Amino acid sequence: MKVITVPLSYTNCYLIQAAQGWILVDAGRQSMARSFRRQLDRLDIDPQDIKLIIITHAHFDHVGSLAQIKSMCASPVLAHPREASIIEAGEVVIPPGTNLLGNMVSWLGRHSTRILGFAKTKVEITVDQEYDLTPFGVAGIIIPTPGHTPGSLSVLLEDGQAIVGDLAMNFSRRTNFPIFAEQPAQIASSWELLINKGATVFYPAHGRRLPISDLRGIKESGSV
Ligand SMILES: [Zn+2]
Ligand SMILES: [Zn+2]
Repeated sequence: MKVITVPLSYTNCYLIQAAQGWILVDAGRQSMARSFRRQLDRLDIDPQDIKLIIITHAHFDHVGSLAQIKSMCASPVLAHPREASIIEAGEVVIPPGTNLLGNMVSWLGRHSTRILGFAKTKVEITVDQEYDLTPFGVAGIIIPTPGHTPGSLSVLLEDGQAIVGDLAMNFSRRTNFPIFAEQPAQIASSWELLINKGATVFYPAHGRRLPISDLRGIKESGSV
């Protein structure tokens, strides 16, 4: 199944090819709508062919440009109900760090919530259990994978590709453990859930595509 990375600043968004059109996963930080449009033009994709926008979780770097991108695409937005309420309130939530770098960035974030603000956006579809994407022309499911936030969702395609938001990150050689997490103790079980259901490669929102064989760094046990 075709998955295209659309980098918006430091956040990867992903396009999944559907039977007719595309599904978009995540919408980048604020002020990224123009960059998104340029990349669609380069890919020769009409924004109106995006049939659904899935939000993995409500952090500002995933929903900052959602309002503008949504109006460009005219498609419904899907999120977990807990994240939906944050998106609909336009609330900037900064999660706690899980290491020194995370703690520093988290501290900075908590002191700049004003500039990280984003437009309130309506969420049409809320999902808090497995959700079949077949009606959207994609052989895959959405699975709740809590850990980074309580309402984090992942998209698992039938061929093993998994788009995981911030459940894993890939910019350190030592660990793929996210540098922020509201429920760090749940990260391992969400990784395992995806792997048990057939995930062979993770597409993180921060960092490069990550084959499961390279996945490392559950803090407690040292391995998955
Ligand atoms: Zn996040
Ligand atoms: Zn993020």
